[in-house]
Amino acid sequence: MARKVVAGNWKMNTFVSEGIELANKIKVADLPSDVDVILAAPYTHLYALQREIISYPVFIAAQNCHTHESGAFTGEISPIVLRDLGVTQVIIGHSERRSYFNESYEFLRDKMIAALKVGINPIFCCGEDLGIREAGKHKELIAEQIKSSLFQLSDSQVKKCIIAYEPVWAIGTGVTASPEQAQEMHAFIRSLVADKFGPEMAQNISILYGGSVKPGNAKELFSQPDVDGGLIGGAALDADSFLSIINSF
Ligand code: PEP
Repeated sequence: MARKVVAGNWKMNTFVSEGIELANKIKVADLPSDVDVILAAPYTHLYALQREIISYPVFIAAQNCHTHESGAFTGEISPIVLRDLGVTQVIIGHSERRSYFNESYEFLRDKMIAALKVGINPIFCCGEDLGIREAGKHKELIAEQIKSSLFQLSDSQVKKCIIAYEPVWAIGTGVTASPEQAQEMHAFIRSLVADKFGPEMAQNISILYGGSVKPGNAKELFSQPDVDGGLIGGAALDADSFLSIINSF
């Protein structure tokens, strides 16, 4: 059975003090014991958050990491240092990184391998833009994204990953995929995992939906059989909205 997960992606938002306040509101709330709550904060916040939070079921994530643990990579962030800060998950392949920073399939694969090596579990994002969807090529692209990066990992590595399906046309736009559209894509992704790694892996891997999830639409999305939770952007910046989404299963 796949774990239920709600992950908040704060992106490049909040001052450190605001992030701590937000995290504290979530930490002290009455959280459902069967939902893993993940806060993907900016790097600048992680040290402070680790000291404030870190208690199950709230996990701290990074929004990216590098492929190397140390060396001449000015401005990059080492996965082993993230681990040392108490980070347990990392978002890899967010569409903003794919498009603004031209991250290739191979680079994403290598980042996941580097994260897993130090004990950080990837949240691997995939998703199509509007043009691809309108051309009816969305399944083809998602299969390519997954096969070229995630499926390059071993069984034991994939077991530790979460997949997030995030249609780019729904991210930060206020337009959400319909529950039927989300379900169709999640079932498709699960079938890809089953074909490659077998039915048990497919049943147990959490597949999150991301793209304008709000308190008003989370319940319907999360009630779909193959939607195991959400990756939340904008609505994760407001404690009440995020808590309402966490309680939407
Ligand atoms: C995201 O950035 O991963 C995301 C889903 O953003 P939003 O919820 O704001 O659409």
